[in-house]
Amino acid sequence: MYQDFQEYLRKELANIADAGLYKNERIIVSPQGAEITIDSGQKVLNFCANNYLGLSNNPKLVAAAKQALDSHGYGMSSVRFICGTTDVHKLLEKKIAEFFGTEDTILYAAAFDANGGVFEPLMGQEDAIISDSLNHASIIDGVRLCKAVRYRYQNADMDDLEEQLKLSQAQRFRLIVTDGVFSMDGNVPPMDQIIALAEKYKAMVMIDESHSAGVVGKTGRGVTELFNVRGKAEIITGTLGKAFGGAIGGFTTGKKEIIDMLRQRSRPYLFSNSIPPLVAAAGVKMVEMMNQTNELQDKLHSNTEYFTQKMIAAGFDIKPTQSAICAVMLYDAKLSQDFASRLLKEGIYVIGFYFPVVPKGQARIRVQLSAAHEKEHLDKAIAAFTKVGKELGVLK
Ligand SMILES: *Cc1c(COP(=O)(O)O)cnc(C)c1O
Repeated sequence: MYQDFQEYLRKELANIADAGLYKNERIIVSPQGAEITIDSGQKVLNFCANNYLGLSNNPKLVAAAKQALDSHGYGMSSVRFICGTTDVHKLLEKKIAEFFGTEDTILYAAAFDANGGVFEPLMGQEDAIISDSLNHASIIDGVRLCKAVRYRYQNADMDDLEEQLKLSQAQRFRLIVTDGVFSMDGNVPPMDQIIALAEKYKAMVMIDESHSAGVVGKTGRGVTELFNVRGKAEIITGTLGKAFGGAIGGFTTGKKEIIDMLRQRSRPYLFSNSIPPLVAAAGVKMVEMMNQTNELQDKLHSNTEYFTQKMIAAGFDIKPTQSAICAVMLYDAKLSQDFASRLLKEGIYVIGFYFPVVPKGQARIRVQLSAAHEKEHLDKAIAAFTKVGKELGVLK
């Protein structure tokens, strides 16, 4: 039997490769950081990690994790409701709620699970989910698992959202769902307007702050801080895998009864293992650090400002960004790949994105800034971009 299937898979894989869509993974042999070593031995500057605050190898988080290894051991060998809950898990849930100004938090093994497990227990076939067209794959999958009527509005388009809200008035409950930052352009949705529309049309609001938490807003509290609507969204999901230390883990935080219901009914929570205590302990430390100072957020914001200004001055076409994502537009798919591989030779690690990850004719290099980047790193990247840009005829 396997022979037929094997042949089928080999053909499919060859098709993926022929279309230029085969993903090869680069192997890193150092800790994650601004400067990394890849398995060829080459040291490169990393501009494609979600390590926004530079916490992936932060000594305080490493120390907190080591301490928890000694005090709480390695693994939990259980889901939360059987014997997978420690005092550290509960403390992290409390800290995350304080961070976002919400009532309670539930942890998951990943944000993918948080989004996968949030809709089905809450929304039934009488209800409506109104979702931004550029929402993350895990939101799309989560919505698929639930029986609610689905509405979709064009990315951050408030006229279209209003239209969909009107259409959904026949349903019992309505939930508007949006990413806090859209990961390919780096733009944010106008949360103040979304909240106003939600009030006008009696809808609830859910925000996935995975790319925005720690990054957006003066103190990194996300898009609700940026638009001064803290506490107005009923549900916020997010990840511990990006700005928040970059290890693993996700969460849903929001109204008390919603979180209560998720603990009773959310399948990825009920049927999947707890995050290890060492990750929870590092998470607690991370929130404590953010409560003490905005140093990292300030540095990230000024790095992003510096990089985008210099790149625009160099003649690059940069998408307007309100996050730490800077899309350097090249439009042509092959050009984006050539550009990225030449940059790697210059010691700059970035990834070129093209269809189907972004719309046809919208190929780009996505640069992700970090508080771990020093000015000399940024200058080196800008110089390399400029050199390659001239060689490839992108810059005059
Ligand atoms: C990265 C990301 C996720 C997935 O996070 P994990 O914790 O790695 O599963 C979910 N939603 C959005 C918007 C993301 O950017």
